[in-house]
Amino acid sequence: MESYDVIVAGGGISGTLAAAASSMHGAKTVMLDRNAEENIGRKTNWGWVCGDAVAKSHLDFLGKELGISFSSPELDYKVDGVYAFSPDLKQKFLFEGEGYSLDRPKLARKLLKYAISNGAEYVPEFVVEGPMFEGGRVSGVFGRNSRNEQEKITAKLVIDATGIASMLRRKLPENEYIERDVSTDDIESTGRYIMDFEKDGDDDRYYDPRNALIHLNQVLAPGGYGWVFPKKGKRINVGVGVEKKSIELRNARLNMKDTLHTLIDGYIKWNPLIKKGEIVGEDSNGKGYWSVTVRRQFDSLVYPGYMGTGDSMAMPNPISAGGIGPAMVSGALAGRAAAEAIASGDTGLESIWRYNLRYNEAYGSKTAALEVFRTYLQSLNNDLINYGMAHFLTKEEAVDISYGRIPELTIASTFTKILSGIQNLTAFRNLIYVVGKMKRLNELYSKYPNEVSGFRQWKAAVSAEMHEVKERFKPNPI
Ligand SMILES: Cc1cc2nc3c(=O)[nH]c(=O)nc-3n(C[C@H](O)[C@H](O)[C@H](O)COP(=O)(O)OP(=O)(O)OC[C@H]3O[C@@H](n4cnc5c(N)ncnc54)[C@H](O)[C@@H]3O)c2cc1C
Repeated sequence: MESYDVIVAGGGISGTLAAAASSMHGAKTVMLDRNAEENIGRKTNWGWVCGDAVAKSHLDFLGKELGISFSSPELDYKVDGVYAFSPDLKQKFLFEGEGYSLDRPKLARKLLKYAISNGAEYVPEFVVEGPMFEGGRVSGVFGRNSRNEQEKITAKLVIDATGIASMLRRKLPENEYIERDVSTDDIESTGRYIMDFEKDGDDDRYYDPRNALIHLNQVLAPGGYGWVFPKKGKRINVGVGVEKKSIELRNARLNMKDTLHTLIDGYIKWNPLIKKGEIVGEDSNGKGYWSVTVRRQFDSLVYPGYMGTGDSMAMPNPISAGGIGPAMVSGALAGRAAAEAIASGDTGLESIWRYNLRYNEAYGSKTAALEVFRTYLQSLNNDLINYGMAHFLTKEEAVDISYGRIPELTIASTFTKILSGIQNLTAFRNLIYVVGKMKRLNELYSKYPNEVSGFRQWKAAVSAEMHEVKERFKPNPI
């Protein structure tokens, strides 16, 4: 039985970066991934299923935190921003600034090399099956190696980077820190094609070579959105994310039987510019389906002997479902915090708690507010989204919300809007309620407990706020 300071389970974006950071800061680290080496980071048999879009700010974060930089070929294509369109295509809001479309398989291979060059040991074709425990804490993992033999590996700390379906998280005992399961209401079923397409005309509402486009539309993509992200040349990443209850309601009300698969094909047909498309064969990564969470990350990212990163901790952004940035940030921060705990000789819960604080500071403190906004958005039909995007918010206020900042919906501006004869007053009042709740959650996150002892009370306060919001807004796509 081999023994390490740190085991990193999973070799995706968050895992390779956690392994790199942990070894860079002096911990004896091993990274286990179930894929063969050339397929490092592949999520499922469907490939590295992703929209491939990442904001430049996250790459800059890694530059500062780890000193790593990126260029072609892993950065496939640069965009100026991400725009979200209303269902009637009359309004568009800037959603995210400058960013890149990645070549995910090439990025994964680069990150693997980087982890190894920083001293991490790498074991391919190792399927992690669960955590081992000793003295009330996680003490290692067990699983099957490349020869299909059972193997146990022990470590002072285990970093879980195995993604949304994590077998490690789900096999933790019932505990107050980390939830073992994610509610289906907080999951988007998503799928996408990477295609070379023949463009029929020009219309930057449907395809924009300079920007990534998101289409909010409760008929085309109930409870989620469709996207067309440009890649190099004639290539696009096109896909749809949907929420289970929303699609059921939408199908029942429209007497339709759509599934995620038919919705993606329908979305491509709806786009008048996509004349003919050919799925790209490279790395067998052209067509794939997988799930992504759209809630705040778990209230704590640590449990005795255990730390979680990326999708295993429900980190994707609740509005955009963007999880690459949070996976990068959390991987780098978890690896460093683990190595610091090892170096200090104290790997107890209190010692690794610093990771919770740093992740919240770098990214996590806004996600609860974004979860509130996402829940509200899913309760609006196309007409209300069209009207709301035209009348409820200015472009600046919408940008603020997408970054988790609270717009100044002052009493004066609110009255002006009401007096100017705004329709759909209930939806507008609900928006004011939502903005208030977002503010309250941001306040709570600004007081994230510095020590484990304050966690229970803080968590109860967050849960109560979130429960109220979820009771008030239910999916209502049509
Ligand atoms: C269709 C779709 C579109 C998306 N679009 C975007 C987008 O455009 N922008 C964005 O920012 N985010 C997007 N996301 C989310 C993003 O892809 C993820 O958040 C990101 O990949 C998370 O990285 P990760 O390293 O945490 O997990 P993963 O990428 O899931 O990596 C987990 C790794 O662990 C391995 N593993 C899993 N289980 C085991 C096991 N038992 N034993 C050993 N190894 C294991 C896997 O094989 C994989 O290598 C999208 C997601 C989907 C599904």
